[in-house]
Amino acid sequence: METYVLKDERKKELEILDKAIEKVGRKELPHILRIQQTVLKAVDEYMYKKNITRIMPIMIAPITDTLNHDVEECEVNYEGQKFDITKSMIFHKQVILSSPYLDKIYIVSPNVRLEQEEKGDKRHLFEFTQVDFEFKGADMDDIFEFQEGLVKYVFDYIKKECADEFKALGIGTSHLDVSVPFKRYTTQELKVKYGDDFEEIASKKATQPFWLINHKREFYDAEDLENPGTYKNYDLIWPYGYIEGMSGGEREYKYDRILTRMRENGVDENAFRNYIQLAKDGKIPKTAGAGFGVERMTRFICQQNEIDDVTVFTRKPGEIYLF
Ligand code: AMP
Ligand code: MG
Repeated sequence: METYVLKDERKKELEILDKAIEKVGRKELPHILRIQQTVLKAVDEYMYKKNITRIMPIMIAPITDTLNHDVEECEVNYEGQKFDITKSMIFHKQVILSSPYLDKIYIVSPNVRLEQEEKGDKRHLFEFTQVDFEFKGADMDDIFEFQEGLVKYVFDYIKKECADEFKALGIGTSHLDVSVPFKRYTTQELKVKYGDDFEEIASKKATQPFWLINHKREFYDAEDLENPGTYKNYDLIWPYGYIEGMSGGEREYKYDRILTRMRENGVDENAFRNYIQLAKDGKIPKTAGAGFGVERMTRFICQQNEIDDVTVFTRKPGEIYLF
């Protein structure tokens, strides 16, 4: 009996194996990958021209992003010390900018977030890459202008360089004709207008990317002290229903503010004791920044049904993984 069960399981696994190899062998894939490669080339060029220093990513560290939602934990023990796998390099960005010699940095940063499966979800992977940047002394307006410039630069570049790829994929490029500056809305005004699903509804109605500002979330996004309960943070929303493409904020950097916000959010202060120490010593500078998901941008550019359509190996939550 047991061997039959094993055989059945093996049969199922072999079917999944076929599917995995079909996914690698899709004729669309080389075109999608070429577009993604061109995105990264354009991003690097834009950053280089603006004199933004590229930092190599780290993949494990004693502290990582606290995130705004629950994911499965993913720890590694090394030399008797506990490491988390990088969820984002937010705290590392702040620590890097403690240097008096570095002002503007970015990282093409692999992130592992063991997301819970959600029915109908088309935009989460359990590992992905974000282009993560942070600028000393910057405020929200600086980041808006920078990111609007980046999106326009990348999209114009792609339209010029990847005409053959768009033709092969059978899609147009009018969704890449963006006009800056992008409109700005607060989460509150869109919630009043559209209800709880405001992000999705507003994204579906939009034909241009737009900013969604003022989210109550992680402790490190700065609260506006002139308007307590509002936050100096933002998401960039892709139009045509592709929803969130980027998140960022001005950051909390003062010791008392960091502690207040950590306590509000129930963050483990002991785990963050060295980060807190830096803040206490006045070593964390005032910064603002953001990060955008490369696969989400590729999905939007290539107008793919779901984010897993732009990956080589399945990284969609809730599947069985062979590679
Ligand atoms: P966050 O600051 O957590 O919003 O992450 C920055 C950006 O990374 C998001 O705006 C998305 O573009 C991307 N991102 C976040 N989580 C995922 C995920 N699970 N799968 C793919 N992309 C993601
Ligand atoms: Mg976000």
